[in-house]
Amino acid sequence: MAAVSAKPRALVLGGGVAGLTAAFGLADRGYQVTLCEARQHCGGRAFSFADAASGQRLDNGPHALLGCYRAMGALLQRLGTAGHCQRDATLRLAYRHPGGRCDRLQLGGWPVPLAMPPALLRLGLPFGAKLRALFGMATALLPTPAHWTLADWLQRRGQSGLPDDVLWRPLCRAIMNCEPDACAARDFLATLREAFAGRAAQAAFVLPTAPWGVLLGDAAPAALARAGVALRLGARATGLLVGERFVSAVEFGDGTRCALAADDLLVTALPWFALHRLCPALWPGAGALRSAPIVTAHFEVAEGAAVLPDQGPVVALVGGAPFHFVLRTPGGEPRRFALLSGGDRWFDGRSVAEIEGAARAELGRYYPEWAAEVPARVRIAKEQHATFVAAPGSRPLRPRPGRLVGGPANLLVCGDWTDTGLPATLEGAARSAEALLAGLPRR
Ligand SMILES: Cc1cc2nc3c(=O)[nH]c(=O)nc-3n(C[C@H](O)[C@H](O)[C@H](O)COP(=O)(O)OP(=O)(O)OC[C@H]3O[C@@H](n4cnc5c(N)ncnc54)[C@H](O)[C@@H]3O)c2cc1C
Repeated sequence: MAAVSAKPRALVLGGGVAGLTAAFGLADRGYQVTLCEARQHCGGRAFSFADAASGQRLDNGPHALLGCYRAMGALLQRLGTAGHCQRDATLRLAYRHPGGRCDRLQLGGWPVPLAMPPALLRLGLPFGAKLRALFGMATALLPTPAHWTLADWLQRRGQSGLPDDVLWRPLCRAIMNCEPDACAARDFLATLREAFAGRAAQAAFVLPTAPWGVLLGDAAPAALARAGVALRLGARATGLLVGERFVSAVEFGDGTRCALAADDLLVTALPWFALHRLCPALWPGAGALRSAPIVTAHFEVAEGAAVLPDQGPVVALVGGAPFHFVLRTPGGEPRRFALLSGGDRWFDGRSVAEIEGAARAELGRYYPEWAAEVPARVRIAKEQHATFVAAPGSRPLRPRPGRLVGGPANLLVCGDWTDTGLPATLEGAARSAEALLAGLPRR
């Protein structure tokens, strides 16, 4: 009788969306998996913290999914937390203009290519601008040169002015976390096509009804244990021993070391800057990717004071600066909302008091009927490395998920910054791990 071989081992570094997806997938493929996460919780860049002043659990920043995020949806199913999301039937987005005017983009229930034209025609834009926006949407399906920024694309497709301000810029900030002149048109349009070329539900927001700590961090330990994955929290990898052909050990901040054999797998699911810090020679491109920040001002209006008018869970502030969106948790307490800024460098070096002042002043411009001096508790959350910038020319800096070209034979990489064809999103992170897994033999 043939001897039963021991399970192959896999060590996963990083417990964000990519690392969790990789760990579950490796366990399903017969590996004996250990997941090492530097912090005391999983979830990576989507996490919550306890706000001592209010006793509330706040997110480091609101995260929205789209209906087309299938890999992220599968992870939430695996964690047992998909029920903590509100899935809209179709895209609904409110636009708030300075002075208080409000427009809505609301698609009907038909496939998006059929639903978009009437929705754009109902938008409160002059007729010529609506026609230009329609033309822009139609040409989003055409191939785009890799060196074009989104600003190039907008200019060449006749989208400057109102279509840019109202339609494209909010979409660009939401998807790319930067301004149109900083990001690659091709990466933006790839996401747009996934969302806007199919059924209405693909383009709709899927919004959490509980903090991200509940959806990911709290649920992960039990779900990983059910899958047979060993979880080490507080395990920060500080060094790799890279031999001629393979990584032979990982060193951790607490002085421990994990030895690896040539047929053991090491999967890094770290952000670009962390992989670069850990071992700069592995993939020098990781050190050349730029980061973009996200800043959130969580508001809690005092009891009995006037609440901010509620125009739905996602409101884009047209021409807003430095904040771009007002977000609410569906079904949440009306006194709570968040102002979010994507990729704006105005915040660099600013104090919390200055940021709070800017948030209140901007609310005063967009909601004149709601006095900006209404008593409210404000908590600022700043994420300096929220996303990488998917700029033109950044594709070669992003390795394909899986084995690095010329890299150690037992080392595989994934993470939102690897080349999935998508920008930095939860879906990109989950798909990077799926792509890595697809290259492995099933055992
Ligand atoms: C405020 C904010 C808002 C966002 N909004 C959205 C949104 O609305 N929609 C969307 O799709 N995306 C959004 N994103 C982006 C999204 O969060 C990321 O794309 C995604 O979470 C990346 O997942 P990841 O697993 O690739 O990396 P990460 O989440 O960064 O996970 C990497 C993990 O590795 C750990 N780690 C780091 N160094 C080490 C080490 N040396 N040893 C061990 N572990 C280590 C980290 O602690 C972390 O847990 C947002 C990001 C932020 C910050």
